Amino acid sequence: MSKYYLVLLAAVILFCGCSKKSPSNGPITPGDIKSHIAALANDSLMGRKPFTEGENRAIRYISQQFKQIGLEPGNNGSYFQDVPMVEIKGTPSKTMEVTGKTSYSLQNSTDFVAFTQQEQEEVDLKNAPVVFAGYGVVAPEYHWNDYAGLDVKGKIVLVLVNDPGFKSGDPNFFKGDTMTYYGRWTYKFEEAARQGAAGVLVIHQTEAASYPWSVVSSSNTGARLYLRQANKHMDRCKMEGWISDGATRKLLASAGITGDIRALARKRGFKAMPLGLNASVSIHNQLKYSTSHNVIGLLKGSSNPGEYIIYTAHWDHFGIGKPDAKGDSIYNGAVDNADGTASLISMAKAFADTKEKPKRSIIFLAVTGEEQGLLGSEYYATHPIYPLNKTVANLNMDALGNYGETKDIAITGKGQNDLDDYIERYATEGGLTVVGDRKPWAGGYFRSDHFNFAKVGVPALDMNNGDVSMKHDTAWAKKKQDDYTANHYHQPSDNYSPDMDATGMAQIANLLYRLGYQLSNETTFPGWKAGSEFKAVREKSMGL
Ligand SMILES: [Zn+2]
Repeated sequence: MSKYYLVLLAAVILFCGCSKKSPSNGPITPGDIKSHIAALANDSLMGRKPFTEGENRAIRYISQQFKQIGLEPGNNGSYFQDVPMVEIKGTPSKTMEVTGKTSYSLQNSTDFVAFTQQEQEEVDLKNAPVVFAGYGVVAPEYHWNDYAGLDVKGKIVLVLVNDPGFKSGDPNFFKGDTMTYYGRWTYKFEEAARQGAAGVLVIHQTEAASYPWSVVSSSNTGARLYLRQANKHMDRCKMEGWISDGATRKLLASAGITGDIRALARKRGFKAMPLGLNASVSIHNQLKYSTSHNVIGLLKGSSNPGEYIIYTAHWDHFGIGKPDAKGDSIYNGAVDNADGTASLISMAKAFADTKEKPKRSIIFLAVTGEEQGLLGSEYYATHPIYPLNKTVANLNMDALGNYGETKDIAITGKGQNDLDDYIERYATEGGLTVVGDRKPWAGGYFRSDHFNFAKVGVPALDMNNGDVSMKHDTAWAKKKQDDYTANHYHQPSDNYSPDMDATGMAQIANLLYRLGYQLSNETTFPGWKAGSEFKAVREKSMGL
């Protein structure tokens, strides 16, 4: 306790002693954030999986905190928004049998993962022809169509993760190494369904996906969740999934395709290649219809309560799964995303405690189902409680850094909208720098809840600590990030520990606090920058 007291004291002294306001300081303390992480990432919450007792405990904790802080219930008298979902627990056949010139038995989980969104007890693919369809992209603005002249009905397409621009060396080919939405696996599944394919497998490559196969296999086994839909998702492919790089190479080699398949697929005029192989696989499904919950609290604005700033953080994680090498089977998700949820609660307290109340209303929204495809935020964005054209901004926190304060602040998908400019200003004042994505090829802007707000036009900002540690040598933060990605991301070892460094989390939370507070006292609406794919939908919704 004394350590944090000293840190706090030092921060207070610094804060009072400076006429210039450092952006890292503010009312949100690392100690307060840590107290909530300790609660949310505790084993008793069983990994915070939707529909489990873990959900009940997580949403109870968050709503009780909101109540204690003095937030009003955000949904017509309730702290909860129902999110109707279907859970599909798919068990694929142990092997995918591939026959043709040569025969292979691909092993479930090590060579491939397969699932379906179709709400059927059994889906079956028998001797479906396999086609290598390059990147699986149809992008008119780049004059690119991997499906041109191709009939994929009844077939399984193999498509590379990421987009043709990746590692092309040309920043103007797609967006170079910056992933466009065409590179995201969700897009690959959507496009294959539009084309009428029976199955789609995304070819995993660690560099292009930005995470190792272990993440693919651990995130895609067992039950998956989807928002409930009237058509029972029958417009989707029968089978969706991933295939390992190694397994892909074996299949392609038997069709005489070897070498750098990315280079092959990014060539202008690339034509999809039938492999002369057929694959059989089946998936048995157990269906369960259930309702999960977003938690929502409101701090009514003092003079402009009909306009809103929405803070988001996802409360959910993976529950209890396969034990790791140490026998730990509880996915506590301390960093992902107990720390963002904890910061959301601390944020709410900071706003409730301000002497001068914000003029616009502030919404605190802890969303469900992020890990299963950003579902809670999609539900809110498509069933908004507060009008979207009165919603000034969405500010999102997901997996904030656990390696202390940094001299640089990383804005996800930097350059999208005017919210970046506020952060740039605060940073300059405080002697910090602002950087874009650490891994622009990872498609970070499409990977957390702010993306669903962007899709409906609300300017949305997601940011995190950068690479350059305040206290440690230059390699420190990068090393910590890499260690987290390789050894803890979506693994049972993403645990809370009392010596976790939450000063970086507080740094980001305080910057976002300052931004939200400033926005709440303005009367203007920030917009999207020219060229952003989200500008048109906002202008339409604002009647511009
Ligand atoms: Zn996650």
